[in-house]
Amino acid sequence: MAKTRAMLVPAYMQQFSCIGSACEDTCCAGWQVAVDRNTYKKYNKVHSDLKPFLDSHVKRNRSSKGDEDYAKIALKSDMICPMLNEEKLCSIQLKLGESYLSNVCSTYPRVSNIVNGILEKSATMSCPEAVRLALLNPEGIEFNETEESTDIRNAVKKQLNTSDVPQNQIELFFWELRIFSIQVLQNRKYSLAERLIILGMFYQNTEKLINTDHIFEVPQLIATYTALLGGQGVSDILSEIPTLSTIQMELLKNLVDTRVIKGIRSQRYIDCLGEFMYGINYTKESSVEEISRRYQAAYNDYYKPFMEQHEYVLENYLVNYVYMRLFPLGSGNNVFEEYIMMVIHYAMIKMHLIGMAGYHKKDFSLNHVVKLIQSFAKTIEHNSLYLREVRELLRKNEYNSMAYMAILIKNN
Ligand code: SF4
Repeated sequence: MAKTRAMLVPAYMQQFSCIGSACEDTCCAGWQVAVDRNTYKKYNKVHSDLKPFLDSHVKRNRSSKGDEDYAKIALKSDMICPMLNEEKLCSIQLKLGESYLSNVCSTYPRVSNIVNGILEKSATMSCPEAVRLALLNPEGIEFNETEESTDIRNAVKKQLNTSDVPQNQIELFFWELRIFSIQVLQNRKYSLAERLIILGMFYQNTEKLINTDHIFEVPQLIATYTALLGGQGVSDILSEIPTLSTIQMELLKNLVDTRVIKGIRSQRYIDCLGEFMYGINYTKESSVEEISRRYQAAYNDYYKPFMEQHEYVLENYLVNYVYMRLFPLGSGNNVFEEYIMMVIHYAMIKMHLIGMAGYHKKDFSLNHVVKLIQSFAKTIEHNSLYLREVRELLRKNEYNSMAYMAILIKNN
């Protein structure tokens, strides 16, 4: 009998399979394709009419940081992988078989982590088919324990062991924190904006416990917030937070500009950005106040009515974010900083969608939301250098506070 390993996955992963040539944005466009060391060595030994083609396109990666990006396939001038044929099918897979795909190509868009020895698999949102399956389910994301054959290849991104850490480390409570975060994000008694603000207040307090060596009070804090969420007390706090759309839009637009200056390869993201700008008539001649009035109008007239019916899409995005990134401990930053980065992702997506809703008006649809989230993930989420810069920018300008996060989250 084939050997299997235990695995925890969001339910959508059990439905996912690549739609190949039917895909509107093949993953081989816009990115240099990384080739791991083993696959590179296999290519050197190939005897096939593909060999000259491999020799001319697969090159050693001089800036490689390890075995995973040992070599690379450089894209053609149209930013498409040279290995794709006219039907957008991969010639390596067709002629040599799946086992000759590099780790990245054979596992994408799957993201694998190992927590306490158990494999956790989810999907990055830069694949449109994964976005549809993961985010368009109104029932929300559920998780299943399952098994997979040990023959399946995985490129493990992060490993976390919570039982094997010193007693004063926050990793001890990783499971409790992640489950609590997902429970808050899926608590539909509150609007998504409210859920995010509650989570921010919680992580601000968690951060204080960590900094004062009171880590053992974290379970008590979770219990307090769980009770609070079950009562009525939270809505009052939330109604006192002001709506400041000018600051929201200025700050987020600055972050987008910082990314645009560096050059964008995804045509799908460029389309969305153009629609956002048109949707709120973002011109050099307009004052910031005029633009933000139009931004608020697009929010009230088109985004809000649409999202009242489809808020589950962004909820699912955030739940997937938490799971895939081992939030709040996945990046080795402090827990409140992890929360800030999650809010930045959410608020940037929301800002684009508000402008796009203003552009498409009554025709604004889930297809537009899928296109934005997917192309945004490809342009922003996969760019760790840019995200580091964002973190620095927020810190330098002292925007890394709960007050600023509430401004980015709240629109009315
Ligand atoms: S982006 Fe997703 S659906 Fe499209 S080709 Fe890549 S893996 Fe397949």
